[in-house]
Amino acid sequence: MHTKTIAEIIEGLRNKQFSSEELTKAYLDRIKQHDKTLNSFITVDADVALKNARDADKKIADGNAESLTGIPIAQKDIFCTQGIKTTCGSKMLDNFIAPYNATTVQKFNDVGAVLAGKTNMDEFAMGSSNETSFYGAVKNPWDTNAVPGGSSGGSAASVAARLVPAATGTDTGGSIRQPAALCGITGLKPTYGRVSRYGMIAFASSLDQGGPMTQTAEDAAIMLNVMAGFDQRDSTSVNKPVPDYTSTLEDSVKGLKIGLPKEYFGEGLDPAVGDAVQVAIKEYEKMGATVQEISLPNTHFAVPTYYVIAPAECSSNLSRFDGVRFGHRCDNPKDLMDLYTRSRSEGFGEEVKRRIMIGAYALSAGYYDAYYLKAQKIRQLISNDFKQAFEKVDVIMGPTAPDVAFNIGERTEDPVTMYLSDIYTIAVNLAGLPGISIPAGFAKDRPVGLQIIGNYFEEARLLNVSHQYQKVTDWHRRVPKGFE
Ligand code: GLN
Repeated sequence: MHTKTIAEIIEGLRNKQFSSEELTKAYLDRIKQHDKTLNSFITVDADVALKNARDADKKIADGNAESLTGIPIAQKDIFCTQGIKTTCGSKMLDNFIAPYNATTVQKFNDVGAVLAGKTNMDEFAMGSSNETSFYGAVKNPWDTNAVPGGSSGGSAASVAARLVPAATGTDTGGSIRQPAALCGITGLKPTYGRVSRYGMIAFASSLDQGGPMTQTAEDAAIMLNVMAGFDQRDSTSVNKPVPDYTSTLEDSVKGLKIGLPKEYFGEGLDPAVGDAVQVAIKEYEKMGATVQEISLPNTHFAVPTYYVIAPAECSSNLSRFDGVRFGHRCDNPKDLMDLYTRSRSEGFGEEVKRRIMIGAYALSAGYYDAYYLKAQKIRQLISNDFKQAFEKVDVIMGPTAPDVAFNIGERTEDPVTMYLSDIYTIAVNLAGLPGISIPAGFAKDRPVGLQIIGNYFEEARLLNVSHQYQKVTDWHRRVPKGFE
């Protein structure tokens, strides 16, 4: 049962092969059996999950089933869930229970999905390996010595190990696509503004975007149908009709114009990853797509630009965690300053502190023009690169990450090497474009992701192009050893 995709589960529920309660119990058992090894969940509330399942069975029996009714979905622990702890992977929020649901959570509730649990993540979504979580590292199910990627590492690992059929993630610089690549699953980062950020704890507000993490592109389309849409509670959400993302999955890719940025295949790319990606691109040529080399000349500025803008926004967003308005409070403060200082020193981990310090520095008087303003200008140049590319091609393809999953502990001492994990994903966030990572084979026995970048609001095309590849390959159906 647990290897089924969402699309197959929907069939099973409709044909009464199993109930949502049976399904949910089966997944809860798998979580119990395997999550001691993987550590992909921070909170699992079996009572809530089973209650959701029974409600869903009633909804189905009454003939009111919607797409995701009765299907267990895990939420990244960055989405506020009313009545259930939301930690954001931080000691700061270790006992935080939100009084409301994030819009995304509410939308899943409204269609009768089952809340399977809250997944582990890098602290405040800052990281590429899930090692910055207060709740400990997550293991990659393909090799438990390896990281699952981050920051949505818990979501990626839980879907890869088939502990849940699907999960949500968030992507500020690559946090849906990079862990999807490293764990061999499908992960879609929508256009900025497509999915509401309301109730999604903010890291860098101009970059953050929630999206689905699934086995297949078809499942991602089903998930995005629920997640996408305007929300008046998020002033940056875009008021634009939401298409049915499943309706164009079967469109042919004949004549599709694919651009391969030369900057994504040069120095720094593991040759074995590059080979796997080239083989994947050949599949598209076999299906009638055409390939041309393009250039995104400002690519090398993406990581440094991001590491000014994201920390600047994070230093501002995280100022609310002061032990008074939100977050951990130290014991016996001497005075107000002591309360702020010790609460924040105790509540935040090293990486979060590093980001806050960089951001506060970049925003300080006298440095603002030199760093933040300059970074915003380069951001525009990066967006222009994509704009020009999309005048020539329909989609851009390349590797999601420069190499396969690295070992736990291998990069924790070297933040710059860690930051380079997102070299091919970060520019997409800076431009606000949609991007997807799909499984495209293995290198050194670890999964490789193919990234496909689309023009604004072209999620339907990305899902279609991904689905067509998944019809002629079976990488997305591979299950890691020990989790079959
Ligand atoms: N790895 C990047 C960072 O550490 C991106 C994280 C994310 O997308 N949330 O900031």
